Formats: sequence, structure tokens, C-alpha cells
Amino acid sequence: MRIFSGIQPTGRKHLGNHLGAITQYVAGQDRGEAVYCIVDLHATTVPYEPAELRERCYDTAAILLAAGLDTARCILFRQGDVMEHTELCWLLCSVTSWGDLNRMHQFKDKAGTHRELVSAGLFFYPVLQAADVLAYKSDEVPVGDDQRQHIELMREIAQRFNARFGETLVVPEHRIPQVGARIMDLQAPDRKMSTTGGSEQGTVYVLDEPAAILKKVKSAVTDSGSDVVRGPDKPGISNLIDIMAAVRGIAPDAVEAQFADARYGDFKLAVAEEVAAYLAPVRERYAAIRPDQDALDALLAAGAEKARAIASVTLAEVRDRMGVGPAGG
Ligand code: ATP
Ligand code: MG
Repeated sequence: MRIFSGIQPTGRKHLGNHLGAITQYVAGQDRGEAVYCIVDLHATTVPYEPAELRERCYDTAAILLAAGLDTARCILFRQGDVMEHTELCWLLCSVTSWGDLNRMHQFKDKAGTHRELVSAGLFFYPVLQAADVLAYKSDEVPVGDDQRQHIELMREIAQRFNARFGETLVVPEHRIPQVGARIMDLQAPDRKMSTTGGSEQGTVYVLDEPAAILKKVKSAVTDSGSDVVRGPDKPGISNLIDIMAAVRGIAPDAVEAQFADARYGDFKLAVAEEVAAYLAPVRERYAAIRPDQDALDALLAAGAEKARAIASVTLAEVRDRMGVGPAGG
């Protein structure tokens, strides 16, 4: 069983990324052959600084290692180091419907926030993402809830490829966690916590100090009422309950039961303390890992080599099936 997922090196990773995706990456190492990719090419689809992108890739690699990725048990690499991704992206364009791309929520959301240039890259983002996953013939893709539509599209791309050119690609399944799949911005609980689109006060970063976490959680927007129970009209408190449940690894019901007598203020304090304690070891390990950039370079290069060994085989098959290049590879 092969597992694949990609994570953006745009800025700092947040609690939503950690609970929705990174914890699943760590668990994936024991469940199958795990391949994880820092998607620098995806990060170029929105305005960015080239020198910063490089730095953020190292930051992201260090966060993943600090969270528990172990390169003896998974393949960790940088997307741009494995050229097969971009070639496969182009080849898959031939079986991707323009109309489908035009329906993608992420494109609509992100396109709406850029006034200068809405790049074609942003539009093609889901095709490159499909190439990332399909190049490894992945069975499973651990992601947060916001990626549901993109995974659905890549399944369709794989199916259309197989129908048109013959059985070649594996149609992957998404793996979305039961709890923590959609952590909301603490200041705007109708929007997901986000690396690029969220509010600074409403975003808890994996590397935040306990004092910053306390401040952010205490000032989280809550709803009218005072009972610690979830409800469709209570997005703020529901989000905090979900966070508590995900961090503790229990069901949201159990959190409600435990805090049945508590008021919002007490509950916020408990959530802040729990989150701070949960993230502290990651922050401490990060501080030890991040400074050694040579070690990170070596590790990413070794990961890229292993990744290429898998992706190049798929590419040769795809090219052959599509009639691209000389017969037989
Ligand atoms: P952006 O908002 O710029 O797209 P991001 O915060 O979504 O950035 P990504 O690197 O794109 O960060 O996402 C990495 C993983 O984290 C993906 O699997 C995504 O589904 C998951 N994820 C992102 N935001 C959340 C969230 N608020 N709650 C749970 N999972 C999330
Ligand atoms: Mg995202």
C-alpha cells in the first residue's frame, strides 16, 4: 500500500495542517510505503519571493521531521527536484476537463484574493497535484477536508486516462481524519485556518510559543451562549471543541461531556494549555533540526533520488501509452 501527500512551503505551518495532515503523515509511516513531498512548484502559483521560497522549504522539512517523519521509514523530498511531476502534469492535461478545473473551489477562493495577477498556474494547480499523486501510483492520499474536491478530480483524471490509453494509473482514495479535518480560523470561524489566506491572530502556528497560543485561543471569537456544546449556529465554540478533541485523540462528544459544567473562559484556557503542551515538543525538536541546512539538503537529495526511481517508471509507461517519444520508452 502506497501513501502520498504534498504540503506547501508557503509560510509557517499551522495547527490545521498539523491536525488535518501532518499527524496522518506520521501514522502513515506504519501503515504503508509513505511518500511525502514539499510542493515548491505549487507555491509559485501565488505571489512569492524566490529566496524566501527556498528558506521556507527547509522550514517545512524541519517541521515535518520535528513532527515525527523519519526518513528511514518514509520518502521525503522537494517536488521541484523530481522533474517527472511537471512532465506528467502536462501529459495529464490531455485528460483533464477545462470545465472541471473551472469548478474548483480553491481556484475561485484564491483567484478572488489576488488583484495583480491570477496565474494560469493557480488554475492548473489541481493537475499538477494529480501528477504528484499519480506518478507514485498511490493508493491513499492523507489530506484535510479542503482537498476533497481536488482528490475527486484526480480520481477522474486517472480513470479517464485508463479508459483512453489503457489500464495504467492507480485511482487513489482520500484519507480525511474523523476529527480535525477542518480547523477553522479562530478569528473567523466560518473560514478554514490557512497558511496564506487567514488572519494572524486567528492562526495558531506549530512553532508558536505557549504565550502566543494562550493569547490567540483566549481571544478566539465565540458565539452567544455559554455552554461548551457544538452546534451549526456556534462555529466558534464548535471549532475549539474539535481542536480539543483532535489534540487529545478523543471524540468531540467526550469533550462536551467533560466540560459540561465549564464556561467559555475556563474552556478556552484548557484548550490553550492542551494545544501548547501538544506543540511544545515539535517546536523544541524543530529548533534542534532547522539550523543544520547541510543535513536537510542531503536528506532532501536522498529523498528525491528514491522518489525519481518510482516516478520515472510511471512516466515511461505513460509516455509509451500516449505515443510520446520512441516506442518502448
Ligand atoms: P493555503 O491556505 O495557502 O492553501 P494551507 O494552510 O491549506 O495553505 P497546505 O500546505 O496547502 O496549507 O495544506 C497542507 C495540508 O493541510 C493539506 O492536506 C490540507 O488539506 C491540510 N489543511 C490545510 N488547512 C487545514 C485546516 N484548516 N484544517 C485541517 N487541515 C488543513
Ligand atoms: Mg492548501
